[in-house]
Amino acid sequence: MAKIISDVVCPFCGTLCDDLEVKVSDDGKEILEVYNACVIGTEKFLHSQAKDRLTVPMKQDEEGNWNEVSVDDAVEYTAQMLCNAKKPLMYGWSSTNCEAQSKGHEIAELVGGVVDNTATVCHGTTLIAVQDVGVPSCTLGEVKNRADRIVFWGCNPAHAHPRHMSRYSIFPRGFFTGKGHKARKMVVVDPRSTDTAKMADLHMQIEQGRDYELLSALRVAIRGNPLPETVAGIPRETIQDVAETLKSGRFVVIFFGMGVTQSLSKNHNIDIAIALTRDLNDYTKAAIMPMRGHYNVTGSGQVLGWQFGYPFCVDLSRGFARYNPGDSTSNDLLRRGEVDAVFVLGSDPGAHFPISSVKKIAQLPSVCVEPHYTPTTAVCKLHMPVAFVGVEEGGCAYRMDNVPIETRKVVEPPEGMLSDEEFLERVLERVKEIKGVA
Ligand code: SF4
Repeated sequence: MAKIISDVVCPFCGTLCDDLEVKVSDDGKEILEVYNACVIGTEKFLHSQAKDRLTVPMKQDEEGNWNEVSVDDAVEYTAQMLCNAKKPLMYGWSSTNCEAQSKGHEIAELVGGVVDNTATVCHGTTLIAVQDVGVPSCTLGEVKNRADRIVFWGCNPAHAHPRHMSRYSIFPRGFFTGKGHKARKMVVVDPRSTDTAKMADLHMQIEQGRDYELLSALRVAIRGNPLPETVAGIPRETIQDVAETLKSGRFVVIFFGMGVTQSLSKNHNIDIAIALTRDLNDYTKAAIMPMRGHYNVTGSGQVLGWQFGYPFCVDLSRGFARYNPGDSTSNDLLRRGEVDAVFVLGSDPGAHFPISSVKKIAQLPSVCVEPHYTPTTAVCKLHMPVAFVGVEEGGCAYRMDNVPIETRKVVEPPEGMLSDEEFLERVLERVKEIKGVA
């Protein structure tokens, strides 16, 4: 008889919904149904059941042909590649658990590698800004129970975090927000008319790349100072209207995404968005939060922070941790040809990096640890398949508001399939043998 597993955590986006129910077959091997998840989260669970899933490691030969190899051979190739490289890049880490991240960092320290995560191409600028000026933030639980003014700036949760609005930010009735969305005002700042923007009480259709100016104008308007007729394509009256709407709320939250972290001014946009939040606290309660994408990119920053003091692009090649975004970040290293091997786990740079960087990866000794077939597995020399974290393996992950959540295993992985952590453990043992470390 089929059984239902409840309180399952969705391992897809940074919302980390923890109310899923999964129906599994009697023998615990097959997922039959997924309840409560959005369409993306459901697909993540069901995709693990794909019949064409890779279950054995595959290695490319000199002619570009793919051949099956044993797990022992995959461990040996990975360990030798990392030990023989002068400066290997160990990239990804955002779609795995904190336990695997920690193990990977141990290897990086031994081989003198660079550890970088997907923040390098999304919220790295946010991390820089937070280090510069600090951040007044809160948890998503506080948002649900208290927030009545919600701003989505440069993000589109209707598509990228589909249950964010229903679980936390717009629709739920919380302790002090009993009327749900009826008592909340929603402001969207986006140059495009997205599905999120179409739901907003007020959509500021800003001119592309002029976020810094509009954020400055809002700070001016909040203080009641004069403004020019338009700023960033937005009429003065609209800016003043939004400023008054925010000031009149009991709890304002500004959520922001890559539309503002990766547009002109980058980390300075976030500096000033944080300054705007600080200003609003003179009138009401206000907080700001990045919309993190991969389900455990926040955890990767946390684990790197505990272990080395920096949240991404940590260069260990000199025997101690250095951090210099723009220099020790993956694309800069690849573009300058400064790394001589690439190890990827829990990410898909083949899909998200510039083509010049992907070409570099294709030329280097490289390993991709990944349950799916991806553009990265297609260019790496070794594809090591592993169990799906959050589906076939549990472990700790951090939600976008920095709350740690324990993910659950719901089915067994295919026979003989290692988890990320188990594979890294075996590589670590072999690296220690090669390096003669006890
Ligand atoms: S919103 Fe994100 S975490 Fe929640 S079910 Fe959808 S993909 Fe999963």
